Amino acid sequence: MNLPKLRQRYQPRVVGPEGRDHVIDTFRAEAKQWRLQWRCDDCAYQSPSNRTCSLKWPNQMLLPDDPDVLDAADVPIFCKAFESSSD
Ligand code: SF4
Repeated sequence: MNLPKLRQRYQPRVVGPEGRDHVIDTFRAEAKQWRLQWRCDDCAYQSPSNRTCSLKWPNQMLLPDDPDVLDAADVPIFCKAFESSSD
């Protein structure tokens, strides 16, 4: 079984005819407009002392101030365990 290919098969197709840049630009504009929180710095599970994930998820992709929206295979980058740290 080729797990990466199997995983890819069940990912949503978010890149349409407008292309990858359109998806990225739209997401960033709407995230800013609606103050979307999805990065580790906004998550209750991030350890403030060293910015690691207390649930031990690899979080390098969600640490930058302006993280990538899609990975190299056009799969959305997000964390299903995100829990807002806001009140
Ligand atoms: S649960 Fe997800 S969003 Fe939250 S700190 Fe861990 S990797 Fe980041």
